[in-house]
Formats: sequence, C-alpha cells, structure tokens
Amino acid sequence: MNIVYYCKHCKSSLGALHDAQASPEALGFTSLSSDERADLIEYVASENTAYVKTVCEYCESALSEHPDLLLSQTPIQ
Ligand SMILES: [Zn+2]
Repeated sequence: MNIVYYCKHCKSSLGALHDAQASPEALGFTSLSSDERADLIEYVASENTAYVKTVCEYCESALSEHPDLLLSQTPIQ
C-alpha cells in the first residue's frame, strides 16, 4: 500500500511511501485508539493509500509560538 503524510494544517505533503511493505499495524498505528486512528489516518481502499495527518515543522513552530492559530481553522464569517 502507499502511505502519504501530509500536514493537517497547511495540507503540504511531507512525504510518501509507495508500495510500502507494511500494514497499518506494523506502522504502530495500533498504539492509537480506534478513534485517534480514524482521526489521523484516512485509508482510501480504491487507491490502496493511507493518508496520514501530521504537522509540518513550519506549522509546529508557528503553533507553538501562536497557539491561538488553532482557532483560525474555523474562521468566523
Ligand atoms: Zn503545515
């Protein structure tokens, strides 16, 4: 299966593994609760690809300096 990592904030791609000889279990995803896994990993069977949400260095540092940016994910109209 393919594994694509992307930043959940800015949606930038952080890397991808193609034809990874690994199951979700082998990647340690099973250490997460099923709720956490559902939140972090989106598996698209038709693409045989798992999309894994993570946070890029840029957003991580930005959020650590400006935690209030988290609120900007849901802009007030
Ligand atoms: Zn980012």
